Amino acid sequence: MSSQVQRPGLLFVLSGPSGAGKGTVCKALLQREREMKLSVSVTTRAPREGEREGVNYFFRSVEQFKAMIEADELLEWAKVYENYYGTPKTFVAEQLAAGYDVFLEIDIQGALQVKRRFPDGVFLFLIPPSAAELQSRILGRGTETDDSFRLRFGAAREELQMMREYNYVIVNDQVDRAVSRILSIMEAEHCRVKRN
Ligand code: 5GP
Repeated sequence: MSSQVQRPGLLFVLSGPSGAGKGTVCKALLQREREMKLSVSVTTRAPREGEREGVNYFFRSVEQFKAMIEADELLEWAKVYENYYGTPKTFVAEQLAAGYDVFLEIDIQGALQVKRRFPDGVFLFLIPPSAAELQSRILGRGTETDDSFRLRFGAAREELQMMREYNYVIVNDQVDRAVSRILSIMEAEHCRVKRN
């Protein structure tokens, strides 16, 4: 008799204010936890230097994106800083069914939509050590114009209020420490007897 029981994977959703370091933490997390599946989002924004189709994002026109919404192909979608972003539904469903943990790095509006559809998901909120740190991280990127900075920083302050909607808050004081915290949470969630 096989003792192996195929269980669906768990869905982890990471959000946080702009400048919290989500992208960096996700990259480092994937290096340490190669089994998990990071969902690749669809976006209407232009690729940044070095970004690759199907690796960082699926880059689509607004028309193509709207067609995906119409066809109900997105698990969630949101307009973030003038561009559309969304999570392809099929990938998430297939990977979870195959027993893999799926990780979404999405904005707060999107996370709230996912929470309605996956109440058993694990919702992680990444924050920088302080608002001052937040400010310097956003500025430190070097790609922000003044107007764009005001847009992002204003939104980030409001976004911080949203942490109550999440299961865990992770302070990104150092990337490797933030990753260790997330890995501990993932492990604990797999040991959990009862959800909710
Ligand atoms: P960026 O353009 O810097 O890659 O991402 C901008 C914002 O969009 C980030 O806050 C990121 O988390 C969010 N984002 C990326 N993919 C998705 C997605 O599929 N859905 C939602 N709702 N937000 C996303």
